[in-house]
Amino acid sequence: MRIARFSHNGAITYGIVDDTDLVVLAGDPMFAGFDTTGERVPIADVALLAPVIPRSKVVCVGRNYRDHAAELGNDVPAAPMLFFKPNTSVIGPGDAIVLPPQSERVDFEGELAAVIGRIAKNVPAERALDYVFGYTIGNDVTARDLQRSDGQWARAKGFDTFCPLGPAIETDFDPTGDAVVTTRVNGDVRQQGPISDMIFSLADVIAYASAAFTLLPGDVILTGTPAGVGPFTAGDTVEVEISGLGILRNPARNA
Ligand code: MG
Repeated sequence: MRIARFSHNGAITYGIVDDTDLVVLAGDPMFAGFDTTGERVPIADVALLAPVIPRSKVVCVGRNYRDHAAELGNDVPAAPMLFFKPNTSVIGPGDAIVLPPQSERVDFEGELAAVIGRIAKNVPAERALDYVFGYTIGNDVTARDLQRSDGQWARAKGFDTFCPLGPAIETDFDPTGDAVVTTRVNGDVRQQGPISDMIFSLADVIAYASAAFTLLPGDVILTGTPAGVGPFTAGDTVEVEISGLGILRNPARNA
């Protein structure tokens, strides 16, 4: 089942994607279940929004693909390297990534995103995927120059608009499968890597993170990016595709 969040006639609501239509849901399915209103709306008539606004945090994993760690001259970490993006960085499909004047190099990082569906604390890896509501696509947009100069990553990865999510949440997706993350800039392929190349699996990451802090329904986990990261500039369009999850497409503009 694929769930979208959208704006239609001035209201924000959720729907189940059914071919070219949305079957409108009565509430947020993460909390209110899947009761429908009986209404159907053509997808072409709505504006898709970020499928989730994280309730408290976006948890990200750095250097979780060997080839990506190597391309930036880093070693593979011995344990998941976690950092946060603020929920204010989230935008939806089609929204513009705004390039801040503080940075001279902003990079795309296409990533598999998992949406947490239940309160998770001290969850063992064997049961970790039971706590996932569904899956979507994320772009861990990064001001690479500020990441280097700041040391800490909060500012470089936390600017408003630096966390595109979408286009929808897919509940039937196998994060242990061989889906491929592909990132294109203006149609040119820049990244292409299978999620099976992750060093730490999503289940491992949930276990490791939830041993430290509580994950809340609506929190999002970005699982790291494959090799090929690089810059984009104003006027470019960045799209991240993951087989089975669709395409997340965002234009970029200057602030
Ligand atoms: Mg990343």
